Amino acid sequence: MQIPFLNLKSTNQIYEAQITEEISKAVCSGWYILGERLKQFETSFANYCGVKYCIGVANGLDALTIMLKASEFPKDSEVIVPANSYIATILAVSNANLVPVPVEPILDDYLINPHAIEQAITAKTKAILVTHLYGRCCKMDEINAIATKYGLKVFEDAAQAHGAIYNNKKAGNLSDGAGFSFYPSKNLGAMGDAGAITTNDDAFAERIFALRNYGSSQKYIFDYQGYNSRLSEIQAAILNIKLPYLDTENNYRKKIANRYLTEINNPKITLPIADSINNDAWHLFVIRVENRDSFRQLLSENGIGTDVHYPLAPHQQLAYKSWNHLTLPITEKIHQQVVSLPLNTSLTDEEISYIIHYINTY
Ligand SMILES: *Cc1c(COP(=O)(O)O)cnc(C)c1O
Repeated sequence: MQIPFLNLKSTNQIYEAQITEEISKAVCSGWYILGERLKQFETSFANYCGVKYCIGVANGLDALTIMLKASEFPKDSEVIVPANSYIATILAVSNANLVPVPVEPILDDYLINPHAIEQAITAKTKAILVTHLYGRCCKMDEINAIATKYGLKVFEDAAQAHGAIYNNKKAGNLSDGAGFSFYPSKNLGAMGDAGAITTNDDAFAERIFALRNYGSSQKYIFDYQGYNSRLSEIQAAILNIKLPYLDTENNYRKKIANRYLTEINNPKITLPIADSINNDAWHLFVIRVENRDSFRQLLSENGIGTDVHYPLAPHQQLAYKSWNHLTLPITEKIHQQVVSLPLNTSLTDEEISYIIHYINTY
């Protein structure tokens, strides 16, 4: 059996005919940027997340960067970020001319540690930007309480958490503002780059609407030094077709996650914690194993694709040379041991059984 880690042709197959038709309508409309398809998506996604505003942008990194820019913090303010995240979370802070301060996660759930956040707060700290990594929401009650205590803003990197739930609220509605990505492999994926910001704050939303369009809210009048970061009509058309199926797709992901959690019984494998199985978006199913290479090789020899999210921590990258001397043992251990198993809507029961069988023989 050949089971790729992810095949976007297969996962998008059921939408192909409808998408082709809607793209063709967008082409014929003659209106390609900031049109009615984007408006429709912004309204639907805001409703889905339970927030007042959704502002479409060009990609997830821009969503985070523009959100921070719109916060108008003094230059060189500090923003606390997870040391264990995709590098985009951290790049957004740097791109907004702010200083990212990396904070260790908790090993059990890979998410930023609220106690470590509190220890990292200085007189320059202005915000906490958390990542709902792998589709699991951070401990937002504790994090929001810390923010209130110190007068800080809280933002979510929700790029892996479309539809994830915390205390009956959706990711994107758990802080002052959230950045989403609709990169093709995300739980809600476009067919090109796309992203969005969600918020309940009127004035903040207004600045973001302007910032994504050169800082302009009225044609040729520029109130801010903005960006060109717009979600195109063609991508919006695709997202409008796929959004109504997001919960169905997430439920399918849960079913697969549940099988992995109950049927993998190999003591060499550390499974993700299962306490919020119904609330997680299960963007990725990430296990830990000490000898990652030999594990991946066994699966690969049997036709099973895996991936690693991520192999080298941000503080060990050349891009953050000034952090290379840091020792962040929990983050480093995670980066050394994690493996992502196939988890997507094109997998069959038979394929899942096959994957579980080989994992249990390792
Ligand atoms: C994908 C991702 C991003 C960036 O999204 P792009 O659309 O690729 O810019 C940011 N943060 C996290 C956690 C992601 O997984």
